[in-house]
Amino acid sequence: MEQVKCLIIGAGPAGYTAAIYAARAGLSPLMYTGPQPGGQLMITNDVENYPGYPEGRMGPEMMEDFKKQAERFDTVIRQEMIVKVDFTGPVHKAWSESGQEIHAHTIIIATGASAKWLGIPGEDRLQNLGVSACAVCDGFFFRKQDVAIVGGGDTAAEESTYLAKICKTVHLLVRRDEMRASKIMQERVMQTPNIIVHWNTSPVEVLGDDGVSGVKLLNNQTQEASTLDVTGFFVAIGHKPNTDIFAEWLDRDESGYLLAVPGRTFTKIPGVFVAGDAQDKIYRQAVTAAGTGCMAALDAERYLVEKGI
Ligand code: NDP
Repeated sequence: MEQVKCLIIGAGPAGYTAAIYAARAGLSPLMYTGPQPGGQLMITNDVENYPGYPEGRMGPEMMEDFKKQAERFDTVIRQEMIVKVDFTGPVHKAWSESGQEIHAHTIIIATGASAKWLGIPGEDRLQNLGVSACAVCDGFFFRKQDVAIVGGGDTAAEESTYLAKICKTVHLLVRRDEMRASKIMQERVMQTPNIIVHWNTSPVEVLGDDGVSGVKLLNNQTQEASTLDVTGFFVAIGHKPNTDIFAEWLDRDESGYLLAVPGRTFTKIPGVFVAGDAQDKIYRQAVTAAGTGCMAALDAERYLVEKGI
C-alpha cells in the first residue's frame, strides 16, 4: 500500500494539466495513465487550435510535451490502469491492474472519453488519412473539399454545419428516416445549402489507399448500393466516457458522463474531483480539458489546505 496526497487517473490534456498544477503546488501527484497515455490526441494529426503552438503540433508530440512538463515538476507517472476504487472512507482507495493499493487524500478523475467507431472496412486503416472523429480538430484539412459525416445526433448536426462553413459539400449519412438531434440543430442542417442529407443510409466501407477517396453506401430501405466520392470521412455517432469504475460511487448522466457541481470540479464525494471529457459532452476540446484539469488541481489543493493535510 502507498499513501499519496493526490492521485490523478488519466493522462490526456486534463490529467497532465492537473499534474503540472498539483506538482507545482507541492502535492507530489501520482498519475496512472491507463493504456493509452495522451488520450484522444494520440489519434489526431495536426493540432492547430491549441494556443501557444503557432505552427500547430502533431497530437502525439503535443502530449509528449505535456508529459515532459508534468515530469519536470516531479509527477510520478505509471502506465497502468486503475481498475477499482472505494470512496467510503475519508481517504480514498484505488487499485491498479497489477494489484497496487493506493490511498489518496484527493483523486482527480481525468479518464476522458472514447469516440465510438463504426467498425467498417477502411475506417481503422485510414484513420488520420482522412478518417476522423472530430470535425473541429480536422475539418480545416478538407477546405473546399467534399466530405461525408455519419450520425444523426446533436454532434453530427453541429459538426456538419461546422464542416459546411469550410468544405464544398457535406454529405450527412443518417441511418434512419429521421434524426435524433434537437429540432433547432436539425433546422440548421436543413437550412444549410451545401449539406446533403442521405436518409436511411449506412456507410459500409471507406475507400482509398494513402487517403480517403470515397465511401461505399447502402440504402437500408431499398438495399441499393452506391459510392460517394469524398476525401474526408467523419464519424459522429457518439462518445463513451471512460467512467464505468466510478458508477457505484459517483453520479453520472444517462450517457455515463460524471456529474460535477456546475462550473466547478467537485463530485458528490469530498476530495474527489473530475476534469476533462469524463464530465464534458459539450465542448470536448483539448484546451477546455486542460482548463478543467487546472481547476481540479486548484480545487484539490484548497481541499487539502482546508483539511490541514
Ligand atoms: P447520440 O448518442 O445522441 O447520437 C448518436 C447518433 O449516431 C444517433 O443518431 C445514432 O443513430 C447514430 N449512430 C449510432 N451508431 C451508429 C451506427 N453504427 N451507424 C450509423 N449511425 C449510428 O450522440 P451525440 O454525440 O450526437 O450526442 C451525445 C450527447 O451530447 C447528447 O445528449 C447530445 O444532446 C449532447 N450534445 C449536445 C450538444 C449541444 O448542446 N451543443 C452538441 C453535441 C452533443 P440512431 O438515432 O438511429 O440511434
